[in-house]
Amino acid sequence: MRVLGIETSCDETGVALYDTSVNDNQGGLLGDALYSQVAMHAEYGGVVPELASRDHTRKLLPLITQVLDEAGLSRQELDGIAYTAGPGLVGALMVGASTAHGMARALGIPVLGVHHMEGHLLAPMLEDEPPAFPFVALLVSGGHTQLVEVQGLGRYQLLGESVDDAAGEAFDKAAKMLGLAYPGGPQVARLAEQGDPKRFRFPRPMTDRPGLDFSFSGLKTHTLTAIRRLEADGELDQQARADIARAFEEAVADTLVIKCRRALDQTGLKRLVVAGGVSANQRLRERLAQETAKRNARAFYPRGRFCTDNGAMIAYVGAQRLLAGERDAGTMLAIPRWPLETLTVPSKAL
Ligand code: ATP
Ligand code: MG
Ligand code: FE
Repeated sequence: MRVLGIETSCDETGVALYDTSVNDNQGGLLGDALYSQVAMHAEYGGVVPELASRDHTRKLLPLITQVLDEAGLSRQELDGIAYTAGPGLVGALMVGASTAHGMARALGIPVLGVHHMEGHLLAPMLEDEPPAFPFVALLVSGGHTQLVEVQGLGRYQLLGESVDDAAGEAFDKAAKMLGLAYPGGPQVARLAEQGDPKRFRFPRPMTDRPGLDFSFSGLKTHTLTAIRRLEADGELDQQARADIARAFEEAVADTLVIKCRRALDQTGLKRLVVAGGVSANQRLRERLAQETAKRNARAFYPRGRFCTDNGAMIAYVGAQRLLAGERDAGTMLAIPRWPLETLTVPSKAL
């Protein structure tokens, strides 16, 4: 089954083609393309929803044509269409949803709205050595920080999540305080490379008590206080900024690692999937590598460009579910808030 995947939940227009008849997942990905709106939103220091919707409208059809052309396929050779139905910005979601439904209706093929976080969660399936079920997943993105026990497609149990800001959001806010451009994660990471890890020590929130929930808003306040203090003392030079970036990054990475360790202990599982934008962070990956090596466990990641939003993960998840017989029942779906744990197993796969 050849499935077109469409991602428009936030500020990235992603399109990809996935073929379930190819025997390995990596080979099944026939092509993908991404248009990032980051430069446009950077001017405003964050995503402007109305501008995002308009830009998706402009870029989506040309991207679909490009991906099909590059794969040497016509629209008539598609067997299904998957799109991100949520969670995300409602206007942005509607662009992908209405395009998917319009095309599917015209072509007479099935269409399915899929969950954006299920896409992130299963993005490592597109790699050379995909993780086998069951595994623990750490989802760390711009809008989510969650630990999930994954038994199979559609079998997700939430183990813990952030009670306030997501890890990516905290990176973006820290970046802003440090005078760095949006999106801040990669910029904070770059600045942190020059930083001295010993100069400041930031707290590891909620690690002093049991449980798998996270909180990152206090860390944000801590960062602001440190910056203000240095500023007042006339010591906020480039080195001080780098030292703060380093302390912040260390604190976030450490906190995530501590909770991953607990989740592996609690579930007794040996496989850890890390996905979403913050999974691109090298410091986090180094720390997790040390931690998993110690306990004979293994961490799995998507390739760099599939850590953040992309069409490939949507095409992949959509293809699995469409193949199992799932379809939208008529109207298009755009669900801004949609908990991952409410997903179910496609009936044929039971
Ligand atoms: P969600 O998936 O929760 O709806 P989103 O789609 O906006 O949110 P992603 O596109 O998965 O999130 O990830 C973007 C986030 O990842 C941003 O907050 C960005 O700062 C962060 N990020 C990207 N690269 C890095 C990095 N190297 N280090 C830390 N954070 C990073
Ligand atoms: Mg994004
Ligand atoms: Fe995302």
